Amino acid sequence: MQRESLSKYADLAVQIGVGVKEGQTVIVKAPINTADLTREITKKCYEAGAKDVIVEYSDEEINHLRLLNSPDEVINDYPKWRIDGLMNYIREGACIINIISSNPDLLSDVNPERMGIRNKVIAEASKEYKEYVLGGKSCWTIVAYPNEFWASKVFPGLPAKEAIDKLWDNIFKATRVNTENPVLAWENHINNLTKKLEFLNEKSFEKLIFTAPGTNLDVVLPKGHKWLGGGQRSTDGDHFLPNLPTEEVFTLPKKTGVNGTLRSTKPLNYRSTLIDNFELTFKDGKIVDYKAETGYETLKNLIETDEGSHFLGEVALVPHDSPISNTDIIFYNTLYDENASCHFAIGSAYLLSVENGSNLTKEDKERIGVNDSLTHVDFMVGSSEMNIVGITKSGEEVQIFKDGNWAF
Ligand code: ZN
Ligand code: ZN
Repeated sequence: MQRESLSKYADLAVQIGVGVKEGQTVIVKAPINTADLTREITKKCYEAGAKDVIVEYSDEEINHLRLLNSPDEVINDYPKWRIDGLMNYIREGACIINIISSNPDLLSDVNPERMGIRNKVIAEASKEYKEYVLGGKSCWTIVAYPNEFWASKVFPGLPAKEAIDKLWDNIFKATRVNTENPVLAWENHINNLTKKLEFLNEKSFEKLIFTAPGTNLDVVLPKGHKWLGGGQRSTDGDHFLPNLPTEEVFTLPKKTGVNGTLRSTKPLNYRSTLIDNFELTFKDGKIVDYKAETGYETLKNLIETDEGSHFLGEVALVPHDSPISNTDIIFYNTLYDENASCHFAIGSAYLLSVENGSNLTKEDKERIGVNDSLTHVDFMVGSSEMNIVGITKSGEEVQIFKDGNWAF
């Protein structure tokens, strides 16, 4: 991996991801193996005028050892001061850069019950933190960093070092770091996405019709749906990009308004098992039939999770010609894979994608058609053969996607 590219990648996190401001404090949450990027990000934060950069290093190996060896009293307790330490900065307006680089299989030998308790304890201790982050009170971003476990999953058969280098190359392509001026490229990209959103929101389509080989699907959009994408504004009006990279614009389908068939175009990695070449049939929103060439049982488990997992909660548009899609690899990482192709999600809808979403009661959700489920799993359906037509309330037909790409 080239030093110069790493430096540009750091620029993106600082300028586009969170938009560090003069005098602001920045929290960087970083796994210990990402020290080179973390230091580069820290340098860029100061160059952008940051007052202080607080780096929180973590080590998943140490965490793993704790989970295996510490007594229950340790697992059942997450010291409040650990969260308070960060909250002091966050309440004062600090932004947060998260670097992720985990080994997805590391914790497989930990007793699942113990794991569940630990996750719950941390979630409870982090309530206020979550409120700030999910409620948009703070600016935050996530960027990924390769490691040998992840790289070998993407490129099995390559020696670890080569696999890591190759993964870096693809990350740099997918995040536009390989362009001359990545920050400018991202500003343009965000402007483009915003224009798409504005058009889609202004049209407020009543229905979308998806056609592609194996796909013929009517998707009704609920009243008050909102198209989102290209980042978010904080409650203070600052722009940030929760996911770097991001390509999608998305909203929710009406829970009971999906009819027809839908064929996958990329494998879905669910709980470490691949589901591939699958097809779903919908009647009034519900999955009434399905088949899969690979991973049928896993698909069945996913659909049978609960009542809501028989319905869709997200419809997302991603052009076939986009940097992530053009790498033509499966990243085994949702940050990347869900931005590679038009997709739907089985399960719960994202509440911000409907007007007044966070204040809806259970009855409101039923009435409007906002799906609720324990799960939310994206699966890819886009290709160069995907066509999408929107129908407005007045019956006007508008071509949205033609041969896999934006038609307007
Ligand atoms: Zn999505
Ligand atoms: Zn999703």
